[in-house]
Amino acid sequence: IQFYFQIGFHREQVVVKRSELSLVALKELAVAVLEKQFPQAQICLRLAQQIHLFQHQPNHDNILKVMKSSDEMKDGALIEVVLSAEFGGDNMKIRPHTLSVHSYRSPAFCDYCGEMLWGIVRQGLRCDGCGQNYHKRCAYKIPNDCTLVRKRKASVSASVNTWNGSTLSLQDSVSSSVSVVSLYPSTQRSGRTYSCRPLWMERSLAIRVPHAFQVHSYTRPTVCMQCKKLLRGFFKQGVQCKCKFNCHKRCKNDVPANCPEEETKSSETDADDIVDSDDGMDTSDPFDPPTPSAPVEEDESTENSMAAHSYCGPASLYISSSDAPNIPLMRVVQSIKQTKKRSSTVLKEGWLIHFTNKDSVRRRHYWRLDSKSITLYRSETGANYFKEIELSDILSILMVTRLLPGEPLHFFKILTSGLELLVSDDSGEIVLTDVPLNHTNMNIHRSENVVDWHTQVYQALTPVDRKQDSTSGVKRKVSVMISLTKDPEDSKATDISQIYQVFPDEVLGSGQFGTVYGGKHRKRGFDVAIKVVDKLRFQHKEESQLRHEVQILEWLDHPGIVKLFNMFETPEQVFVVMEKLRGDMLEMILSSEKGRLPERITKFLISQILIALRYLHKQNIVHCDLKPENVLLSSDDAFPQLKLCDFGFARIIGQKSFRRSVVGTPAYLAPEVLRKECYNRSLDMWSVGVIIYVSLSGTFPFNEDEDINQQIQNAAFMYPAHPWSGISHD
Ligand code: ADP
Ligand code: MG
Repeated sequence: IQFYFQIGFHREQVVVKRSELSLVALKELAVAVLEKQFPQAQICLRLAQQIHLFQHQPNHDNILKVMKSSDEMKDGALIEVVLSAEFGGDNMKIRPHTLSVHSYRSPAFCDYCGEMLWGIVRQGLRCDGCGQNYHKRCAYKIPNDCTLVRKRKASVSASVNTWNGSTLSLQDSVSSSVSVVSLYPSTQRSGRTYSCRPLWMERSLAIRVPHAFQVHSYTRPTVCMQCKKLLRGFFKQGVQCKCKFNCHKRCKNDVPANCPEEETKSSETDADDIVDSDDGMDTSDPFDPPTPSAPVEEDESTENSMAAHSYCGPASLYISSSDAPNIPLMRVVQSIKQTKKRSSTVLKEGWLIHFTNKDSVRRRHYWRLDSKSITLYRSETGANYFKEIELSDILSILMVTRLLPGEPLHFFKILTSGLELLVSDDSGEIVLTDVPLNHTNMNIHRSENVVDWHTQVYQALTPVDRKQDSTSGVKRKVSVMISLTKDPEDSKATDISQIYQVFPDEVLGSGQFGTVYGGKHRKRGFDVAIKVVDKLRFQHKEESQLRHEVQILEWLDHPGIVKLFNMFETPEQVFVVMEKLRGDMLEMILSSEKGRLPERITKFLISQILIALRYLHKQNIVHCDLKPENVLLSSDDAFPQLKLCDFGFARIIGQKSFRRSVVGTPAYLAPEVLRKECYNRSLDMWSVGVIIYVSLSGTFPFNEDEDINQQIQNAAFMYPAHPWSGISHD
C-alpha cells in the first residue's frame, strides 16, 4: 500500500506491505519520518504515544477522521500527523538553571564543551540546582532545563540499548538511551546536551546569565544603570561587567541576570571566554614583531588605567581603599591560545562530528584539509582551533560502512599511532550518538559528503600516488627517535624504553605541556624525571617550543638549573629526560604549616633563584615563565637547593623583540607583557617579585574584586595586615 504522511507543510510518500500495516506500525513510521525530516524540532520520549493520526476524507463533513485502526486505509491515503496536547508531558515542565558567577579554587572544567574554565577568579558559571559548570559562552548553548542534567546523570549508567525489534517498543529504547535530540540550529550546536522542549519554548526560556561585576574606576560622570543615580567618588565608584553594564556596588544584586555579552561576541573570540576579564591579551602570532595596535574605540575601560594612576596619588591611599580579600595562592595553568592563519590551499572544508578511542565525547568542528594538515576549527570564520592533525602523523584512514537494515551509514576512521578518530557528518550524528542502531524505520542518509571527505584526505596523504584503492588505507611511518644524549651507548638506542624504565604510576607533576613521570636508567640505575608531551594535543608551534626548551637546556650548565639527559621523539610523543628532583616550590608553600613560608626560608630560596637568574641572564636567556611551579627542590629539607625548570617559553634576548600570546591567568606576568609591549630580562625580575609576595603571604597580590589585568598594570598592591604586619619591612 502506498500512502502519504502530512506533517505540517511536509508531505512524505510511504510504501509498506499491507500485511505489516497496523496502527502501531503507522505511528512508528510517522515517528521515523518526523525524526528524519525534523531532527531539529523534536524527537522525544514516548513520541509514538504522543501523536495522533487523522485520515483525510475530503468528501465527508468531518474532513479529518481520527484513525482507530489501519483497516480502512486505502492506496493513496493522506494521513495527517498531529502532536497531542499532552505532547512532551513531563518534559515540558520548566525547571531552568540558576546560574551564578563562581570562583573555583581548583581546576574546573566546562560541562558543555569539556574545556578548562580559565582564570583564577570568576572562571565560570555554576548552576545552583544541578551543580553543572559552564563557560559563559557555553551557557548560551545549553538547554535551559536543569532536570535534564540530573536525568542525564542518572540515565547514563543505564543507557543500554533496550531495543526490541519484534515489539516495536520505541518508547523504551529511546527513553533508556540518553535523549539526544538537538534543539539548536546545526551551526550552533556541538551535539552534546539536549532538552525535550520544542525550539520555540527553549528560546522563550532563554538562559539567564548573570553579569560578572568587577570594581571599576570611571573617568567621567557615569550613572548607575540600575537605580539611575550618579556613581559618586573619585575612583572605584562602581562595578562594571564586561558587557559594559555599570552600577553601584550596592545595586549589583538587584540587576537581573540578563548579561548579553555572548550574544554580541563573535565566535572568533571563543578561546578567551572566561568570565573573569583578566585576559584580553594578545591574540596574534606569538612571534610576530609588535605591530601598532589598532585604534581602540575610546571607552571608559581604556581610560581606566590612566585614571587609576592620576587619581590614586600615594600608593597607600589607593591601597587602603579596597577591603576585598586577596586571592589564595593556587597552581595556575596558562593556556596558549590556539589560533592559526588559514592555509591558502584548502582542499576541503566543512562541519564534521568526531570522537576518539580515548574520549567518547562527540565534538563538532569545522574541518579544513590542506596539503599539510587537517585543522579542526571552532568556527567557520575564526582562527581558533581545537586540534591540528599533521598529515605526516596519520598512519591510515579507513572508510567504515555500518550496515543498517535500511541504508548503510558511512563514517571514516583516522588512525595516528596515539589516537583513533571516528568521523562522520551531521547525517550520521544520530547513529554516532546513543540512539539504537538497528532502528528499522530510520532512514539514514548515505552521506556522499563523508565518502568524499575520506577520498580527499586519502588523496592528500598520497599526493603522488592517486591510483591506489581509496578503501585500502595507507601505511605510513611509525616512529622516529631523536636522541640528544652524550652517552655513546645511549645514542644507539632506538626507543626510550631501551635505556629507561618509565614509571607511569609515579607522576611527579604536570603543567601546560605535559606530565612528568619518575623513571630509572636501566643499566646505571640512577633516577630520572621524564616529561612526556602528547604532541597531538598541541599545535606545531608549541611543539617547536618544546624543542626550543630542549635546545636551551642543552646549553646550560648550572647547579640552579635542571639538567637535561636525553630527548626522544615519536610521531605522537616527546620525552624529555631530566635529573629527578623532589617537587616544586608551590607544593612547598601550600603544604607548609601556615600555607606560607617564613622570611628566612623565603630569603634562602629567592637568593638561589636570583643566582640562577644571573647565570641565565648573563647567557642572554630570559626564562619568561617563572613561577613557583617551575622552581624545583632538590630535597625535602627546610632549606633545600633549588633548580629552575620548564624553559618552554625561554628566549634568547638579542633576538628581535618578542611577545607571547596567552589566555587564562596572567598571575606572574609583568605589565609590559600584558600591554603587549616589547620586554626583556626585567620581566623575570617582575616574576621574582610576585614569587616573593606569594611565598610570604600565601596569596596572590590581587584582590578578588577588580580586573586582575588592571591590578597588575596599576601595580598598586595591597599588603593586608594579616599576614603583612608580621613581616619585616626589609
Ligand atoms: P610544563 O611545561 O608542562 O609546565 P614542567 O616542566 O613545568 O612542565 O613540569 C611540570 C611539573 O612537573 C613541575 O611543576 C614540577 O612539579 C614537576 N617536575 C618537572 N620537572 C621535574 C623534575 N625534573 N623532577 C621532579 N619534578 C619535576
Ligand atoms: Mg611548568
